[in-house]
Order: sequence, then C-alpha cells, then structure tokens
Amino acid sequence: MAGFNEIIGHETVIKQLKSQIETKRISHAYIFEGPNGSGKMMMAKAFAQTLLCEEGKDEPCHNCHTCKQAESESQPDIIFVKHEKPRTISVDDIRGQINQTIGIKPYSRPYKIYIVDEAEKMNEAAQNALLKTIEEPPEYAVLILLSSSSNKFLPTITSRCVTLSFRAVPDDEVKSFLIEKCNVDEDKADFAAAFAQGAPGKAMLLAQSEDFGEIRDSAVELLIRIGSKDGNEMDSYEMAQAIRRINEYHMELTDYLDILKVWYRDVLCFKATQNPNDLIFKVSDEVREIKEQANHISYGGLEEILNALEKAKIRLNANVNYDLTMELLLETIKENQK
Ligand SMILES: [Zn+2]
Repeated sequence: MAGFNEIIGHETVIKQLKSQIETKRISHAYIFEGPNGSGKMMMAKAFAQTLLCEEGKDEPCHNCHTCKQAESESQPDIIFVKHEKPRTISVDDIRGQINQTIGIKPYSRPYKIYIVDEAEKMNEAAQNALLKTIEEPPEYAVLILLSSSSNKFLPTITSRCVTLSFRAVPDDEVKSFLIEKCNVDEDKADFAAAFAQGAPGKAMLLAQSEDFGEIRDSAVELLIRIGSKDGNEMDSYEMAQAIRRINEYHMELTDYLDILKVWYRDVLCFKATQNPNDLIFKVSDEVREIKEQANHISYGGLEEILNALEKAKIRLNANVNYDLTMELLLETIKENQK
C-alpha cells in the first residue's frame, strides 16, 4: 500500500480525508466515485492504513506493525469485500462478509474498515442489506464503497454516505508519473496517458503491458486498413475478428476502442493545426496516414466517428450483440471517410 503522498492528482479528496483524520471526524460510510483506474482503490488503501497506523498521523508511517500488515494486505481490520459472480454483488456477499462480521470488534486498532470495490454491482437486495448496517453502524466501522457511478445506488444509501469524486488526472501529470515512478520511456508514456483519459491506473497497465508494442501495431494496422482506398479495405467481419483478437492481450475490448479514439483525436488535431509535433501516433508511417485521413474526413465526420466509438463502448458494456455493434461502428467510420 502507498501513502497519500504517493497518489497523483486528487488533491481535493486527499485534503478532505486528511482534515477528517486530523479532526477525528471520520464518517461511517464513503462513496469514492470515479472512472476505473482513476485511483479509488489506492486512495481507499492509503486512508485505511492511515486510520490504523500506530503513529496516528495524517500519513501512514510505513514502519509500525499495523502498517506492515496493511502493506502486505494481511491487516485483519481492513476487509476487502469480494463477490463471486463477476457482474453482481449479491445479498449473500454483503450479509456474509459485512453484516455478519461488523459486530465483531476490531482486533487491536480503533477502526474496522470495509472496502467494497465495484460497489455499483450491488443489486437492490444487496443494497438494502447494506442499508441496515449503515443506518446503525458500530462506532468503529468505516465502509468505503468504490464505484464508477454513484447513480446506481439507492437514494437511502447515498444520503448516508460522504461522496468524494475522483476527477480525471491531467495527461501531463499521468505522463510524468509514468516516466518518473514506472520507468516508462517518453513516447510510451505519451501514448498511455492519452489513452487512459485521466486514469493513471489504466495508463500504468497499458504502459507496463508486455504486449504494448503489439497492441499498438494491431491498432494501427486496423486503422490504416479501415481507411484504405486501394481495394484492401477491411469488411466488418474482418474488423470484428481483428478486434476480438485483442482478448489475447488481456485487454478489455472497450479499452481497445479508446486506442482507436486516440488515433481519431490525432487526425482531428492534425486537421486543425497541421502540426505533426503534437501527435500521439508519431512514427512516420502513422503520421503519413493521419495526414491522409485528415484530408479526407470532415470535422463533422470526425465528430461522428468519435461519437460512434463512445456509443460502441456503451453498447458493449450493456452486452449488446458484439458483431452488430462492430458492424455499426465500422459503417460509421467508412461512411465518414469517403
Ligand atoms: Zn504505521
């Protein structure tokens, strides 16, 4: 686990939490809301470790027994709530891991902290079960719900929680974090930061992926062939297959669509500035293709393509038929490249 001082961005959230620690006015329930990879879990761990640290300061000391346990995730008073079904947190998960254990006093420290990742996956029954606990929590209990969207919660839950929002971290902060803390080279850091749209965790995963080069090459090949005018163009079946291969790299399909978005943002950027120095895709073949596409695609067309990529992500998250989603996306891209 890291302390607050190792977290990039989110200064406002850190300030609020530290002031609550200093004044000992800790809430019983929090919602940390923000996109995946934005740092919610890292913040929850830093907060939990600080609350339990034997030094009692506003940063964990990293040296005491409790800190060491927290760092090896073996601190018995920091409980990570797990769920068996990938898409749902059920009432049994909440009852078994929270409601039935929260009455047991913490082992040695003043707080007992529950961290629920992907809390938006709690169904209504699970939320109602949780509600019973947060209506009358034991004095020592702190619940932290991490969520990509708080509008999935019952109003009775949100009204009892302190909601802290995690905004996008600026690209240049993500970039310097990758270069300085993760030893990523500058070009790779540029690319990963643009791709991650303000989520340092997501940027780190891509930049440190062994398949980084292949993922990037496959995206470029796809983008060049979609735009091809020499009879080598890709049909929707080939495109669906090509994108499906991304599974081999353990990358989410929706994340791959974000790489395609970086490309079209580059095309848009070049169209507006005619300056290749600001591009994220800066290998010479890539720049040539971006220039070409910038000449062919109108501003309105680029906007439509970027919207279509966003829509495809929403459809995939809602489990709309994969092939159909890809076909619609490709049609939109092709129509706007004429
Ligand atoms: Zn400590």
